[in-house]
Amino acid sequence: MDNITHSLVGLACAEAITAIKPELRKYSRPILLASLIANNLPDLDFAYTRITTSASGERIGQILHHRGHTHTLAFALPGAAILAALLRWLSGFKSLKSLNAPFGVLFFAAALGISTHVFADSWNNYGVHPFWPFWNSWIYGDSLFIVEPLIWAIGLPFAYFRFSSKFVRALIFTLLGGLLYLMVQYRATHWGSVALWLVSVVVSFKLWRNWFQGHRQQSTAWVLVLLLIPVFFLRSFSISMDQRTRLWLRHAFGTTVLDVSLTPLPLNPFCWTGTSVETDRTDYVARRFTVAFASWLVPASLCPSIFSSAKFTADLKPVTQSKALEFEKAGLFQWVGETRLPLERLRSFYDHNCEFSAVMKFYRVPFIKRQGAGQWIVGDLRYDRSEGRDFPEMIINDPPGKCPRFVPNWTPPREDLLKR
Ligand SMILES: [Zn+2]
Repeated sequence: MDNITHSLVGLACAEAITAIKPELRKYSRPILLASLIANNLPDLDFAYTRITTSASGERIGQILHHRGHTHTLAFALPGAAILAALLRWLSGFKSLKSLNAPFGVLFFAAALGISTHVFADSWNNYGVHPFWPFWNSWIYGDSLFIVEPLIWAIGLPFAYFRFSSKFVRALIFTLLGGLLYLMVQYRATHWGSVALWLVSVVVSFKLWRNWFQGHRQQSTAWVLVLLLIPVFFLRSFSISMDQRTRLWLRHAFGTTVLDVSLTPLPLNPFCWTGTSVETDRTDYVARRFTVAFASWLVPASLCPSIFSSAKFTADLKPVTQSKALEFEKAGLFQWVGETRLPLERLRSFYDHNCEFSAVMKFYRVPFIKRQGAGQWIVGDLRYDRSEGRDFPEMIINDPPGKCPRFVPNWTPPREDLLKR
């Protein structure tokens, strides 16, 4: 998730700790600081992604180390211990005396913060592998867009009443305004959802103002519940969408559906963008589409066109199967395209090319395209959003030069496709 959402979760957790244990209220400042930092700390992994590159300098580490080791429960304990020790040391300075709190209290707030960061990151289709080193497989939530405006609408007004500083309050309004601008600019939503969002912001401000007058501790419990409501709703939508989409794909193409990666559009549980991993007897097929949650109300053709009308890096061919086109007519799907590759080619490339086998530890919906003599461009259809190079796309040499170093041992999401 984005770092505003992580910070809001951090704020809510800090408030919850002092609400549950009122005797810790005298440490509310250091607890808040520990929780805010810990809820953002795992994303510092960007700092060392450069340690893994391909022979030609492609930054493979960007996809292998971001959401890597720092996004595991195993990191929560040492990470929290270091952060708590650092805060204790800082509180030794005279001007920072107000940060003083027992090590155990800081450690608890920090360990909780790192864990909730990993939990929040598990909500979207990027994935996390929290149980490394015991279980190294990716887990995908597939239920929230990377920035969900509804969470901001609930959390930012809460933060507004929690802090009286003019700077913080101005920042909150800037963030809400900036988000509104982005939603409109990137055509991520319909006007109707933007209007609904504005209403939810106003309602949220009104509710928090009333609750904060003398009920601050109860309001903390509410912010946690309210933050989790959209998450649980969207998760249950997502499970139902996943099952239905698999069924429809099987019906439309007669293939074996191995995986469907879904993400709802922001503020819009009716429209989901999806990619699929399918096999027929000899080929691997990946498709990209928009799928409607309730096509009788909002058909897929009316869904906002974000990420589905541009040109892509992958070689996407139009979907032409008659059953699939019938589904499109009925409003269930809007097909963007499909890419196909002989399964054997994918497997042998994986077996003999160490650069490709490294990136396959991240790719969930892989694609491959010839770039030139002995060169391939590879990527993940989930995040192929333009003709240019999107973040997971790499140029792979075949044969590769020296193999990349420090490749972590995440289980490849497409192990099902790669094993013979
Ligand atoms: Zn993260």
